[in-house]
Formats: sequence, C-alpha cells, structure tokens
Amino acid sequence: MNQQKQLGSILLQSSNCYFVSLDDKENITSYNKAFQKLFGDKPLQEVHFPALLPGHLIKHWRHTISQLNKNESTPGSFIGHIGPTQVVNWEIAAYDIDSKLTYELIGTPVTSAGQSENELQLKWLVNDLEKIMSSSLDIICTIDEEGRFITISEASKYILGYTPRELIGQYYLKLAHPFDVGRTIRAAEKIKQGYDSKDLENRFVHKDGRLIPLMWSMKWDSVDKRFYGVGRDVTDKKKSEQELLDSEGKYKLLFYKNPLPMWIFELETLRFLEVNEAATESYGFSREEFLQMTILELRPDEEKQRLLQLHKLQGLNTPVHQGYWVHSKKDGTLMQVEITAHQLDYEGKRAKLVLASDRTQQVLAEQEIIRTNERYSYVSKATFNVVWDWDLQLDIIEWNDIAVEMFGYTSEEIGDVKWWQKHLHPDDRERVVTNLQRHINDRHHHWEDEYRFTCADGSYKHIFDRGFIIYDENKTPLRMLGAMQDVSDLKSNELKLKELNFSLEKRARELAESNAELERFAYVASHDLQEPLRMVSSFLQLLEKRYKEKLDVKAHEYIAFAVDGAERMKGLILDLLEYSRVNTSKEEREKVETNKIIEEVRLTYNNVLQETNGEIICDDLPNVHGTRTQVMQLFQNIISNALKYRSAEPPIINITYKKAGNYIEFAISDNGIGIDERFFHKIFIIFQRLHNREHYSGTGIGLAICKKIVERHGGKIWLTSTPGKGSTFYFTLPQ
Ligand code: ADP
Repeated sequence: MNQQKQLGSILLQSSNCYFVSLDDKENITSYNKAFQKLFGDKPLQEVHFPALLPGHLIKHWRHTISQLNKNESTPGSFIGHIGPTQVVNWEIAAYDIDSKLTYELIGTPVTSAGQSENELQLKWLVNDLEKIMSSSLDIICTIDEEGRFITISEASKYILGYTPRELIGQYYLKLAHPFDVGRTIRAAEKIKQGYDSKDLENRFVHKDGRLIPLMWSMKWDSVDKRFYGVGRDVTDKKKSEQELLDSEGKYKLLFYKNPLPMWIFELETLRFLEVNEAATESYGFSREEFLQMTILELRPDEEKQRLLQLHKLQGLNTPVHQGYWVHSKKDGTLMQVEITAHQLDYEGKRAKLVLASDRTQQVLAEQEIIRTNERYSYVSKATFNVVWDWDLQLDIIEWNDIAVEMFGYTSEEIGDVKWWQKHLHPDDRERVVTNLQRHINDRHHHWEDEYRFTCADGSYKHIFDRGFIIYDENKTPLRMLGAMQDVSDLKSNELKLKELNFSLEKRARELAESNAELERFAYVASHDLQEPLRMVSSFLQLLEKRYKEKLDVKAHEYIAFAVDGAERMKGLILDLLEYSRVNTSKEEREKVETNKIIEEVRLTYNNVLQETNGEIICDDLPNVHGTRTQVMQLFQNIISNALKYRSAEPPIINITYKKAGNYIEFAISDNGIGIDERFFHKIFIIFQRLHNREHYSGTGIGLAICKKIVERHGGKIWLTSTPGKGSTFYFTLPQ
C-alpha cells in the first residue's frame, strides 16, 4: 500500500499531466510539480481553484461541479484554459473521504497532448453550434439533396410540435401545406441556382394540425450538397400584417368618411393626390376636378402669394404645419379655414396630408363678439350713464368711467356688490336689495329700480337703475348688465313741477272763483241797472211830453241825445246780461237740428235779405248736441254780422260743414268788408269793436258771446278773412 502510495507520488510528481486536489470549499490542498510550473513561483496551497480559471469558464466549472455532486460516480470533464496560457482538458472526480468532500483533478495539456489547435477550435465550434442550435428560437436545419432533414434544431419542438429526433430523415415537403408545395419546389430550384431565398414563405402543418406560417432563409452548398436553412415562425408578423391591413382599411375610412375636409397633395408640384368626400362637398369641386388642380387654386390671389412665399421660405417642408387661410370654393365664396398638415410619403411621393376645418362661422362669431364688445365699450364711453357688468358667478362688477364722475369716488374705491349695497340710502337699501334678489330668484330677465345712492361727498343722488340678467341653459344666473341714470335733476324738476302745478291749480281755482264772482256781478249789475235806466228814459220821455211847448229846439235835441244814450245803455246791459248768462244757463243739452235753426235765422232776417238782395246758401246740415238757445244765438250772431258788415254787393252767405272727429266743423262765409288779420283775436274780446257806431251799430259783445258758447260746448272758433273780399268764421260743435 505504502509502495503503491510512493509509486503514485512519483507518478504524480514526474508526470507532465496536472494533478490537483481540492477540499470541499474548492481550495487547493495538494498539486504536482507540473501544475506549479504553470504558475511559476506563485504559492498555490490553499488557493481557491476557480480563481485560477479565466472568467468565462467559471460558469462551466460550476456546472460541472454541480453535476458531480449529483452523481459522484461519474467524473466530469471540461476543457479550458488555466494559468496564463495553457489549455487543459480536465477530468474531475469527487470523493467523500472521512465524510468530507474532496475533488481530484487530472488535467492534460491539450496542445502538448497532440491535438492540433484547429481540431480544438473545431471542437469548440461544434460545441458552440450545438448551443446555438439548442437555444435558437428559429428552426435551424440542414436538408439533403432529396429534401430530407439531416439536422434540425430544438426549436422544431416549439414551432411545429415535433422533436428533432422525429424529424430527422423526414422530407421537408411532407410538412408543408399542400398548396405551398409547388411554390416551395420552385423556390428550392432557384436557391440551388444560387438565388437568395430571404422571402420564401410557406405554411407548415403543426403536429396538432394548425398551420404555421414560416419564413425561410436558405442556402445551397454545392460542395456539401445540402441546404442550410433557418425557418422563422411568422405567425405574429402575419397577425400584425393583417391588423395593419385591417387598420389601413380603418384609416381609409377615416380619411374618406371624415367629416372634416381632407386631402393629400404632392409637395413638389402642389398637386392634389387624393381628396375625401367632405372636401368635395364643402368646396364644390368633384374629386376628378380636384385631382386636376393644385392647392394654389383653392386660394384667392393674395393668399396664393402668401402660400408661395411660405413655400419658398420653409418649402412647406415642416413635418407638422398649422395655420389660418382663406380658401375660395368653386362658386367663389370665401371661407376661413384652419389648416393642419402632416408630412408623409404617399405612393412614393413626398406629400402632405391636410385637414381643413371651416372656421368661417367661428371667425364671424369672433368678429361679432369683438364688434359687440367694441360697441359696448363705445356705448359705455359715450353714455352719461354708469354702465356696469356684474359677473354673478365670480361676484365681480366692472364699472365704466362715468361711475367715478357721477359719484365722486376714485376707481379704486368703487367696488363690488357689497360696496354698492353699502352705499344705498339706508331707507332704500332693504327694499332694493330684496327686489333685485327676487328678480334673480324668479329668473326674470329685466330688473329696474329707483333709489338714492351715497356720493363721496356724503350727498345723495337719485338713481334710476335698470339691468338685464343673463342665464345659462340650466337657468343659472351668469351675468347682469345694466345702466344707472342720475335722475336727481328730474326728481327736483318733478318736485318743482308739482309745486308749480299746485300753485297753478290754486290760481285756476281763484280765477274760477273770481270769474264766477264777476259773472254774478255782471248779472246783478246789468239786472239791477235796468231799473234806474228805465226810470231815466221814461222820465226823459215824460219831460219831453209835458214840457213840449216850453222847451226850445236845443233842449229837445239834448233830450233826444239822452234818450238815445239810455237806449244804447239798455242794449249794452242786455248784451252783458246775455253774455253773463251763457255759463249760468240751466238749459239741458239736446239734439239740435241746425237746419231748423238756419230756417229760423232766415225768417228773422227776411226783411234785410229782401232789402239787400241777399242770400243764405246752405248745405243739408247735420244735427249737433248742445243748448238749443245758445246754438241758435251762435248762428244768429255770425249771420247777422255777415249781413251787417256787408260790402256794396248783395250779401251772399255760404254755410258748409265737415266732420272733425266727434265734432262738426261749420264754416260761415260772407262777401263783406273783411277784417285785417291783425284784429282777428281782438274781435272775440268783449266790447272790442273795429268800427264806431256812426258807421255800424253794435256793442262789441256778439262775437265774445259766440266764443263763450263754442268753448262751453268744448269747441273752438276762428276765422279767415281778406279785407274787401269777405270773411269766413269757423267753429266746432259736438255731434
Ligand atoms: P258788433 O258787431 O256788435 O260790433 P261783434 O262782437 O259782433 O260786435 O263784432 C266785433 C267786431 O268784429 C265788429 O265790430 C266788426 O268790426 C267785426 N266783425 C264781426 N263780424 C264781421 C264780419 N262778418 N265782417 C267784417 N267784420 C266783422
């Protein structure tokens, strides 16, 4: 045993193989000279063996060791460098000595053992190839001239459901879908002639019956007389291609049926390449017309220039481009469009996809808003009123500059609703605030109120405030616009007017009283004066009778004067009595037949008419509503004047009428001496005459009575006249 051990030890030390023992922690416990030689003087005792291996081999080492642990009886082996250069083929065994794990390693230097470097590399290559083949996700295979699998990688199991063992020796075409066989044979012929087969696609039948689309990259080696091939499962690719196809359909739909006008134009020529339906609809050109046009033709001249300029500047070449343009439709109408353009390749051309949204309405609306706002700001500038704009949501009020002017506060002092409420007159505040709140609560649009508002100097202004409340579709109050008007002057005028009215009424009452008094006086006076007057004239007549002989001519003349004076006075008094009676008459109003009245007047003046060859020409006159005696007197006075103030011609009196609302307007014209326009108003005043009694008798009261009668009936009296030609008296009486 000892000898054996000695022999072993000699063998160990003299051999140019490497002997190394490791403990359970893989630390070196013993080694031979040859091994030490590999590392020069470097002490190796207790060195951790894997640390001597190059990094990329440690994994292999671990793997080998772990396999050993599972199966101690089979020694493992691996090839690898050790030390600075040496490639070693290691055989490793594990032993359990005294229940302690020990590894025994015997290494043969690979090169010095007669193996050529090439062979070694080949061995590695085969090793690597095996690994590549087993880990590849694609099917890697070789196929012989007859089309049988020589080798095939593990992937066949996952892709086709067959293990390599099942497939080796099988015909390649046996697995292909019958429909694809012909194509595959033709492709194989071509590959054999040296063509590339990057795009050979066929379907293989999976063990479970599914069809698996495979794409093959194949090469024919004429020396080896075999195909080298890599087959890739393109199920996913096919799926995504199909999806792409489907989605292309979707995109087409999106393009053609898009409600927004869209087109594609070629960047170089600006020609339309495609348009959608919305474009043809909104621009009025057919698709065919579009395809004959360039994008310039959609634009009015000035826009053409702008487009060309932009084209020159940027070449329209930006990937995404946005802008506002004016386009013209086929019928010439212009529209405001917002353009978004995306660059793309279309049928091999550099092109742009354009989306055009018609903003005409929006632009118009925006312009209208601008105009309205302008108008609003002009109005608020031009007005004398305080214009306010109350945002009910944010509770902010904007005031125009007049507020500063009207109330005397600075614009900083002028504030929100609370400020406004605070400055209402304490007596008005609650009423005004409640009323406004009620209007908003009841969703009224219009609000108005009158109140007193405190100014900066502490005085109050009377304000008339009027507002309009705006609600949204849910009837939520949004905004209120209004204007405040300073009605202080109006208020004080109103007050003054009231005072004036009051004093006028008082004056009128006083006047009426004094008028009545005057009428009473005139009546009493004329009534009472008659008696002494009658006495004067009867005693004068008595005097004349008794002392007829005793009196001389002169005395008789004087008596005649006195009698005449008394007579005139009597006439005056009677007329005055008549005048004062107009308003005190107790006679009821009734239907008065004017035709009959004219008949009576005719009878009264029959003599004069005959003497003068005069005539009264008269329409068939309508009835009126009035006091008969007064209507009679009215016609009589005017007709008698027409006869009295006649010219040398026979007097012709014309009576006509026309309707004037609820009144009848009479016109009595004559061909008399006429009246100068200057005296038109004078003749209606009591006792005013234009002639002395030598020429025409009279008291100057007749027309005054007429005026009073007409006015008492609610009518009017006036005249037109030309001196020397005649006059026309007009008056109205109720029907
Ligand atoms: P009187 O006839 O008693 O003078 P009136 O009041 O009737 O008083 O008339 C006032 C004056 O108007 C007359 O004095 C006369 O000068 C003038 N006048 C009235 N009627 C006519 C008439 N038809 N034509 C011309 N003058 C007239």
